[in-house]
Amino acid sequence: MVIEYIGTIIRSEVANRKERVYESQNRGVYMFRIDNDYVIDATITGGPARYINHSCAPNCITEVVMIEKENKSSSRGEELSYDYKFDFEDDQHKIPCHCGAVNCRKWMN
Ligand SMILES: [Zn+2]
Repeated sequence: MVIEYIGTIIRSEVANRKERVYESQNRGVYMFRIDNDYVIDATITGGPARYINHSCAPNCITEVVMIEKENKSSSRGEELSYDYKFDFEDDQHKIPCHCGAVNCRKWMN
């Protein structure tokens, strides 16, 4: 166990609405998708786990998401990362990924 991702569990539709509200307030948006239906919103109520970066080849897994339970561990001094599994967006809203993984998808969403 590395860290607990703390936040408010909300439905996807609520997450989309809140994301627009936060963006209009120029707030950094911190969300972690649990599955198709639920998202953890760490924007207001989150802990330090929300600052862990995305990677397409992450070295951390979550306990609630049991889909890809790889036995991949991180070594001392290595930067921690998650695969945030963001929804795919159109070209205008794509965020480039610079994780450097061999299987990098080039975009975070
Ligand atoms: Zn990547």
